[in-house]
Amino acid sequence: MKERPVTLQRRLLLDILREAQGHLDARELYRRAVEKDPRISMATVYRNLHLFKELGLVDERRLNKVYCYYEIKRSTEHYHLVCQGCGRVIEFESPAVTKVIDEVKRNSDFDITRAVLYLEGYCRMCKEKVEN
Ligand SMILES: [Zn+2]
Ligand SMILES: [Zn+2]
Repeated sequence: MKERPVTLQRRLLLDILREAQGHLDARELYRRAVEKDPRISMATVYRNLHLFKELGLVDERRLNKVYCYYEIKRSTEHYHLVCQGCGRVIEFESPAVTKVIDEVKRNSDFDITRAVLYLEGYCRMCKEKVEN
């Protein structure tokens, strides 16, 4: 059976997100997708991102007012460093954060389902630029 273009485009977008192994915003996703399939529109990208979110395949990370990234959902919790110079997103994991969350869970009558932590600053490259 021949696949409908819609299904193919959907798969293409998911593949790109998987290959990226990190964070893409909608624009970057579109840029990469259109290289492989010129028929893809920005609207298609948004529509599918919305669908992926609903299906729980993709996490939307609103790192601040400006940055909104998408990444394939993973089982381990991780956190983000966001460079204010170039917009690069660096991931980190920290047992210390997990400890804090556990402690808060114990000490409050609150069921924590998700922790979002992002730290803003400058990456090494941008820091060097500022210093020179
Ligand atoms: Zn930077
Ligand atoms: Zn991430």
